[in-house]
Amino acid sequence: MRLSRLFGRTLRQLPPRVDPWTALALRAAIARLVDDQVVLLPLGERILARLATSLRSISPEAQAVILPPGFPEQELGRVLQAEIQSYRQLPVTLLARHAVRFSGLPKGLARPEWCTALQWAVASASEDELINFGRRWLESVDAWWSLVGLAPQRLEWQPGCPGWMQVVEAGPEELLTCHGCGYAASQAAARFERQPVPSEALEEMNLVSTPGADTIRDLAHMLSIPESKTIKAVFMTADDGRLVFAVLRGDLEISISKLVHATKCLSLRPAIEEEIRAWGAEPGYASPVGLKRVVDPVEQGLIIIGDPSIDQGTNFVAGANKPDFHFQGVNFPRDFSVDVIADIAAAREGDNCLECGKPLVANNGMYLGCWKPSLVSIQYANEDGRDREGYVGLGTLLLEPILAALLAVHHDDQGIIWPARVAPYDVHIVEIRCSEEAVVVSRELEATGLSVLFDDRKVSPGVKFTDADLIGCPLRITVSRRSLKNGGVELSIRGEEDRQIIPLEGIGDIISTRITEIM
Ligand SMILES: [Zn+2]
Repeated sequence: MRLSRLFGRTLRQLPPRVDPWTALALRAAIARLVDDQVVLLPLGERILARLATSLRSISPEAQAVILPPGFPEQELGRVLQAEIQSYRQLPVTLLARHAVRFSGLPKGLARPEWCTALQWAVASASEDELINFGRRWLESVDAWWSLVGLAPQRLEWQPGCPGWMQVVEAGPEELLTCHGCGYAASQAAARFERQPVPSEALEEMNLVSTPGADTIRDLAHMLSIPESKTIKAVFMTADDGRLVFAVLRGDLEISISKLVHATKCLSLRPAIEEEIRAWGAEPGYASPVGLKRVVDPVEQGLIIIGDPSIDQGTNFVAGANKPDFHFQGVNFPRDFSVDVIADIAAAREGDNCLECGKPLVANNGMYLGCWKPSLVSIQYANEDGRDREGYVGLGTLLLEPILAALLAVHHDDQGIIWPARVAPYDVHIVEIRCSEEAVVVSRELEATGLSVLFDDRKVSPGVKFTDADLIGCPLRITVSRRSLKNGGVELSIRGEEDRQIIPLEGIGDIISTRITEIM
């Protein structure tokens, strides 16, 4: 590729408020931001293509499929089920490349609104076989990280789902780690010890007037009690239509990710007031105390989930399901019941690790991917013709965030230092008033299968060297009168000081060998 023809210029001036890795991508003509959306330029597209090709080696038996953008991951079960009838077809691995959407505002290259995902969907006859596949997949991805010089933190990304985050200052996600035992989890999934509160003799329950106190803060303030003496109610509606009534101590915040897991649903949205009132609860003054449970428990469209914190503390203040009133002296399980007790509270920095009791430390990071075991189940006919249940697991890797992590790790003050395996081009040729000789070298290299970025622009050598360092291809070849007089061309490895003269004779083979050596 001739640099004079390349779509996308290197930049010296940057838009304000851009994170460091997106800034590097903008400077090096990898990406542009248009209305906060990431557009990958030809250099960026080449890197993504090389990432995808290299990552396919993680599971060579996988068969490729193409899914529509935004295809919901739980629907992969239907794709598999449509074809799978018999045990003879199992196990099978599909590899899909498609666009997935992040919720919330886009945050540069590490968390664009739309992200290119590689997803390995595995259907297996037995849960054990799926667990083994998951373990091998995670190990293969870990091995791949080390091939490209990354060492992301393995962590619990969602409850029960191992994943990876690249720990980096100002990264768009938060993770919590324990320096005591090495436990690490995303902020949304981290397990932690609830702060203990002093326990008292149980009081009788009595109604108290609390006009206008429809938030925990106002309530605690009005009654001069700590927030940990209140009970918080959160209402969500699940994708299957159930109303989810989450109950936790007032000093804690709900984790939607944990609540989705505990509810065994796919997604939750905040419930609207009519949905809450339909169950006899009063928005702002709701609690499970005295809540009418009129529907058959099997068929019921309401599930009450309590955090373990409601059992740590006594004489709580909880809503009376009546505007401007609360109950005092509420105790669990004496005064109300829940359907399920589950960890649904969000961890914060300084909360104690559930494994070893040491305080959790918060860091920022980039989310790179995860393994979801037992995503959905499928049916297949066994040897004896009977219907059996099979299992589907899903491994996901996100390419733009991986590109961002590579940029965050592999750079110096001059620009990017690409690992040879995923560089946009193997060799960057700089010619200084020797264009004919440089064209010959470029052809030689391309003939041996190397990819070449050839700076043929009519600009000063200084500009050419600055851009070569910024774009960061692993090998740089300089063709100049001086190098030719010294017996060939000058070879340097990006990020290293050494230069050497390579003879023109057999240059394709010499450079091919060098690239293989540094891979
Ligand atoms: Zn710990």
